[in-house]
Amino acid sequence: MSSSNAPSNSSGNLVEIFSAIQGEGAFVGERQLFVRLGGCDLRCSWCDSPHTHAVRSTYRVEKTAGQRDFLEAVNPVSGDQILRYVETLQQSFPHHSLSLTGGEPLLQSRFLQTWLPQVPLPVYLETGGHRPQELSKILPYLSWISMDIKLPSSCGESCWQAHDAFLTVAGRGNARLFTKWVVTADTTLEDLDQATDLLVRHAPDLPVVLQPVTPLGGRLAPNPSQILDWQSRLRQRLTSVRVIPQTHKMIHQL
Ligand code: SF4
Repeated sequence: MSSSNAPSNSSGNLVEIFSAIQGEGAFVGERQLFVRLGGCDLRCSWCDSPHTHAVRSTYRVEKTAGQRDFLEAVNPVSGDQILRYVETLQQSFPHHSLSLTGGEPLLQSRFLQTWLPQVPLPVYLETGGHRPQELSKILPYLSWISMDIKLPSSCGESCWQAHDAFLTVAGRGNARLFTKWVVTADTTLEDLDQATDLLVRHAPDLPVVLQPVTPLGGRLAPNPSQILDWQSRLRQRLTSVRVIPQTHKMIHQL
């Protein structure tokens, strides 16, 4: 991370701020105000946001909700300035919530700890689910958590111990949590069973979203019989297992 662009307690490193329809997970279809932060410490094989992996020298902000009339500015950006952007977009459209996304937003937990208490919207965190200590710093300010469960056979990353600790920390707060498992044609039953064991140990009633990977760039999505079998298998031990593909890609939305 270059020191000139590095976030601090009072400033963050952004990729973009914009208004969009949530295309994944439990709030699919809701209009959210997205604050995308820069930097990620994972390299998922199916990542569709590689431009977020490194912190950036500049960011872009939509001036009018949904119009894609972006202005560009320089990182890092103060919490007060980000609040002004959020308030302007919220005035032009009453968003359901603010989606804190990335990259991995928890890498900027020191900044978020000071910024989130001022945010005038309920906050929805999208995370890889592997940074439990950072989660504990901002947990009181979250309304919902979308936690990825990284399945090594399809993702290429293995985060089992970190996921376990993350679920323990998340269980201490009031934020509602669901887990998102991206699955591909290569996902193994061993990984699905290990993820199921993890949830059974913590809370078998936590909602699960199985997200078939969007078949782009050589990635192969599971076939229909795989998905039907996997949902049945998980449903034997877990209360809520839904299959939801990325809907924003279907409507060609940013
Ligand atoms: S955690 Fe998210 S941003 Fe990071 S590599 Fe994985 S999919 Fe991409």
